[in-house]
Amino acid sequence: MLALQGAFASHIQALRSIGVAAVEVRTPAQLEDVDALVMPGGESTTMSFLLESNALFDPIAQRLNQAMPVFGTCAGMILLAKQILDGRNDQRCFGAIDIDVRRNAFGRQVDSFEADLNVAGFDHPIDAVFIRAPQVDRVGDSVTVLAEIDGRPVLCRQGSTMVAAFHPELSDDRRLHQLFLDVIAEERSNT
Ligand code: GLN
Repeated sequence: MLALQGAFASHIQALRSIGVAAVEVRTPAQLEDVDALVMPGGESTTMSFLLESNALFDPIAQRLNQAMPVFGTCAGMILLAKQILDGRNDQRCFGAIDIDVRRNAFGRQVDSFEADLNVAGFDHPIDAVFIRAPQVDRVGDSVTVLAEIDGRPVLCRQGSTMVAAFHPELSDDRRLHQLFLDVIAEERSNT
């Protein structure tokens, strides 16, 4: 769990509740000890800055190049995108999934909201909490959209990278964390 800033504590609890030995990652040495990474919601500009000042940006980029499974939620989704629109000029992203995201644009009129979200493969909707969520403005051909609201993707996957525009750790439903475990298992069996 990337634990530089934001909503990492509740993500760790969510992961532990389904049996994952989740640990906080704040240093390059801690990164070496994990098989996969979750990037939480929070403030993507601050996280981008802290990734650089903690010497984590380049090591994470390298692991992502080697297909380390990663799940980015909200600000984490922004960090994993190919391009950030309405970001700060010095804000960096990893380009681990072929989407462009616009900061603070989804559901702009209400800022934060909850929605019953239908997810591909789930038999009943999840309760999705959106907080100043990024909007996906472009989706590349190799990206699978797993959920959308009003025609806008809010949950996407490309290979070992999964992203959600919302905060799955804020509801009691663990199916998305479980889905990420499936992604990890699938990637493992591919190598
Ligand atoms: N608006 C935040 C950002 O741009 C993301 C919000 C969130 O993670 N809840 O980083």
